Amino acid sequence: MLGVIGHPIGHSLSPRMHNAAFAAGGTGPDGVDYAYVAMDVRPERLPTAVAGLAALGFVGFNVTMPHKEAMLPLVDELDETARLAGAVNTVVVEEEGLLRGLNTDGSGFVEACKEAGVSFAGRGVLILGAGGAAAAIAVAVLGEGASRLYLANRTAQKAGELREKLSKVALGAEILGCPFEEVEDIAKEVEVLINATYLGMKEVDPLPLPVGALTAEKVVCDAVYLAGRETGLIRRAREAGARVVPGGRMLLYQGVQAQRIWTGREPNLEVMSDALA
Ligand code: NAP
Repeated sequence: MLGVIGHPIGHSLSPRMHNAAFAAGGTGPDGVDYAYVAMDVRPERLPTAVAGLAALGFVGFNVTMPHKEAMLPLVDELDETARLAGAVNTVVVEEEGLLRGLNTDGSGFVEACKEAGVSFAGRGVLILGAGGAAAAIAVAVLGEGASRLYLANRTAQKAGELREKLSKVALGAEILGCPFEEVEDIAKEVEVLINATYLGMKEVDPLPLPVGALTAEKVVCDAVYLAGRETGLIRRAREAGARVVPGGRMLLYQGVQAQRIWTGREPNLEVMSDALA
């Protein structure tokens, strides 16, 4: 058994994506027949639910909003990316029920960018947001050699805290703050623009970036995804001729990486992608 815990969870596309691959692959060469379920876990029940999953013999599980940060103290081992990101999105249940916390959001994001022909070496990047997704993406783009990283967040203090944490893994890159009001100016200076806020999840949301910042020379990436359609940001950026990386591709690749870790098999990318579409 595999699954995802969150609250609410009914909207999650992960069961569809993972189960499509398991159905297509059958029991696989190892003879194991996997199934992936979505579980609604209220925040006050998180520790009990997690202990229950280990006791039930789950192979692993994903963790989504609002539990990604609360999961940190509940695992026995934490990998470096999850520690730096301050968020766990994937848990492996080891022998004896020991829990290993990982984060595949950042590496999934990078894999989605590679698919779109986007690399980060020597490039300037602006990330909007300072939550779990922004932190995981920031760690990953620094690891890929970005030379300058601007962080802009509605609550400036949170961006400052993230900057401080990232400075320890900056690998020579400059990490700079960007007041939310100055995003348009900074956007002109960098090649890659990334939205990792909630903006775009609701139909009524304003665009996270000013339309003037979306030009043909930019790469525009959105962590936000909507079932079966593009976000406003991706649509406007595509119309402006920019290269785009939609949140759905990040979702796909974070799932591919988690499935690879849990099963040791090479996931069926095409089937998973079709299931999401
Ligand atoms: P989080 O830790 O709760 O952080 C939310 C971020 O959004 C914070 O920086 C917050 O700013 C900002 N924000 C919220 N409402 C805003 C508004 N009205 N205006 C401006 N900024 C606002 O959440 P998260 O886990 O990082 O997730 C962020 C987004 O990424 C979500 O849409 C999530 O679904 C998506 N995501 C996608 C994937 C994927 O695989 N595609 C993976 C992970 C996350 P403050 O600090 O000011 O509150």
